Amino acid sequence: MNFYSTNRQSAAVSFREAVLNAQPSDKGLYFPEKIPRLPTDFWKLLPQRSRAEIAFEVIKPYVENEIPEETLFQICTETVNFDFPLVQITEKIGTLELFHGPTMAFKDVGARFMSRCLRHFSNEKGEKTIVIVATSGDTGGAVANGFFDVDGIEVVILYPKGKVSNVQELQLTTLGKNISALEVKGNFDDCQTLAKTALADEELKKQVFLTSANSINVARWLPQQFYYFYALQQWQIKSPKSKIQNPVICVPSGNFGNICAGILAHISGLPCERFIAATNANDVIPQFLETGEMNIKASVSTISNAMDVANPSNFVRILEIFDNDYLNLKEKMEAVSVTDEITAKTMRAVYEKYNYILDPHGAVGFYALEKFLNENPNKQGFFLETAHPVKFDSVEKIVGTYGEMPESVKELFEKEKCSVEIEANYKELKEILLEKI
Ligand SMILES: *Cc1c(COP(=O)(O)O)cnc(C)c1O
Repeated sequence: MNFYSTNRQSAAVSFREAVLNAQPSDKGLYFPEKIPRLPTDFWKLLPQRSRAEIAFEVIKPYVENEIPEETLFQICTETVNFDFPLVQITEKIGTLELFHGPTMAFKDVGARFMSRCLRHFSNEKGEKTIVIVATSGDTGGAVANGFFDVDGIEVVILYPKGKVSNVQELQLTTLGKNISALEVKGNFDDCQTLAKTALADEELKKQVFLTSANSINVARWLPQQFYYFYALQQWQIKSPKSKIQNPVICVPSGNFGNICAGILAHISGLPCERFIAATNANDVIPQFLETGEMNIKASVSTISNAMDVANPSNFVRILEIFDNDYLNLKEKMEAVSVTDEITAKTMRAVYEKYNYILDPHGAVGFYALEKFLNENPNKQGFFLETAHPVKFDSVEKIVGTYGEMPESVKELFEKEKCSVEIEANYKELKEILLEKI
């Protein structure tokens, strides 16, 4: 399968090149030349299939034989070696819990798949690789964990000092070995600027293969389709045959990568009634769907901070799926913006009524789905719970508890934080990068 650039100025490339380049030089995003359709027996066989088998079948047409089948199957097996339960909260609303992986956010899936693909391709190249990543919280932990102890790959994480939660910081700073955590005296944008400067440093790139684990990489985006199929598998087993109805799927969205993977899965054959993109106060896309105009504003800070994105980078891929036809898109997707006040109110109400603890991102999803189902009373659906509540300090303040502390978090609190503080200037970062070569 070839991947073209959504800006159509750079040449189309193979899966391997798309993974290694991350982004085409014309600053578009890589997009598959053809969206594969799953064979009809895929659905007949779905109930008895394992997670790895489903993942393999979904990803295979994109990778073809650029990774040997056996290796690809192994990569799939390792990527999804934890649960993805679909849990019913109310009669009509379920949640797909995506926080049972090592760093307790959905980003584990993309990060685990990408790190293993990169290991495979860099072994082929036989060259040392430095992966650089800027994070506002969840990405860094997932990437660090995905690449931990991988031979030949050094990971450098840039995170804003004092601006990630306790658990997130420990997930970044307690691994050691090939993972270095740099605590930047600045904000997330400063971290991102530093990462971009390094990636554009020609002198550095002559000495080492430097790449980013940015969320636009196809190896992070495409595997996010897997868990939509796991959800449907559970949905179909749970519903009596006579009552089977396609679900409405609601996705808390920031950069729109997660929901874009869901829509891609739908085009490949995943049955679903409709997608709802739930955003916080950063409402460029809800506004766009209402007015047809894209007005990019500065981002605002919210309690669902992993979705504080002003200009969602993956949205161009969603437009590409619908041939850039805004009316086509509106047939399949709507978008709802939810304030912090309503998010907090939803977290409290869902805990009191149903004894379920939502994290702030999931709460945005719950609210948007409930609103839709109130307006469309004969439908049902689920939303994606994108991270575990224990990752966000605000949950205890709002709900009064994080619920039961997962074992992995208890262990984290016993480990020692190890990070290097740097100023938000490139000189210090470059010295550190040069030491790694
Ligand atoms: C990254 C993240 C999101 C946003 O996902 P996108 O793919 O950027 O839309 C939502 N919730 C949590 C917890 C996240 O870490």
